[in-house]
Amino acid sequence: MYDCLIVGGGIAGLQAAIQLGRYDHKVMVLDAGDGRSAICQSYHNILGYPDGVSGPYLRDVGRKQASQYGVEFMIGKAEAAQKTADGFEVKDGNGNTYKARTLLLATGVMDRIPPFPELMPTLGISVYVCPDCDGHEVKDKSTIVMGAGTVGANMALTLNYFTDQLTYVNHEQTEVDEEKMLLMKEKGIRYFEGPIEKVLADGPDFRGVQLTNGEQLTSERGFIAFGGNEVKSQLAHQLGVELHKNKHVLVDPRTKMTNIEKVWAAGDLVAHSEQTTIAMGDGMQASIWIHKTLIADKEK
Ligand SMILES: Cc1cc2nc3c(=O)[nH]c(=O)nc-3n(C[C@H](O)[C@H](O)[C@H](O)COP(=O)(O)OP(=O)(O)OC[C@H]3O[C@@H](n4cnc5c(N)ncnc54)[C@H](O)[C@@H]3O)c2cc1C
Repeated sequence: MYDCLIVGGGIAGLQAAIQLGRYDHKVMVLDAGDGRSAICQSYHNILGYPDGVSGPYLRDVGRKQASQYGVEFMIGKAEAAQKTADGFEVKDGNGNTYKARTLLLATGVMDRIPPFPELMPTLGISVYVCPDCDGHEVKDKSTIVMGAGTVGANMALTLNYFTDQLTYVNHEQTEVDEEKMLLMKEKGIRYFEGPIEKVLADGPDFRGVQLTNGEQLTSERGFIAFGGNEVKSQLAHQLGVELHKNKHVLVDPRTKMTNIEKVWAAGDLVAHSEQTTIAMGDGMQASIWIHKTLIADKEK
């Protein structure tokens, strides 16, 4: 029986693992090995890393740091979770069952990224998903927004704060609100409607896109805005955890515990996080309250 099972070994899960390990609790991190921090090649807005730091690097050092305190790790996808008399039972897709007194859900969100192989090395370096994270990276630079419908148009309009050299390619050719169309025209945002055939990139450096009609559009930076990101709250839902209407998990702001006793949530999974530093903070805050609960239970 673990003191805590952390489902999700991204930024939030790893920060919590380090802290819970430092309290000498018996902790298991079950991680599927994908997630936003696994694909972002550079974060630029984190204290202490003026030249950026990659998600895979943070994950690697995070696992090493947590391992020093005896935290265990398992690769696998949690498929089912249920409450038991003395805690929780979680089953993964490999047929393993984990029992724990407390549960921390840190399963994150996954962006809808079109499957162009050239995109993956560019993510966080020259192609981005979040204007709060990376709007600064496109400042005064030519930028193509690859997206769908009004979601893509909204992204182009948001990025207009940083640059006026914007092109929006509505790859999925879905409807754009008339009002947004007019606004884009007013702001001089170029608009193309048609599928992208190929993303042009030189390793991590985005160069532009080629449309299926053969036309090539070049730019220094790219943004992705298709909407429909997946909030990985299925396990939370199974446990009866209260979700926001956008499927993110609702937690007590002070403790990060959900409405289900001894189930916590941290990171992008929680409503209104979606930043690395916030995921770290959430993981830390949750782990402090998990610790308080574990010691209170031992004293009973
Ligand atoms: C291209 C890109 C650029 C970004 N740039 C920035 C930036 O500049 N600054 C910034 O602050 N943020 C940025 N972000 C966002 C940042 O990556 C996230 O805020 C951060 O990763 C959230 O951490 P997390 O631990 O909540 O989720 P994640 O890092 O996504 O980790 C979730 C983990 O849960 C695991 N998991 C999911 N479901 C299961 C399951 N059922 N069983 C087991 N494991 C599971 C996944 O495998 C994953 O390892 C960027 C994201 C992307 C994609």
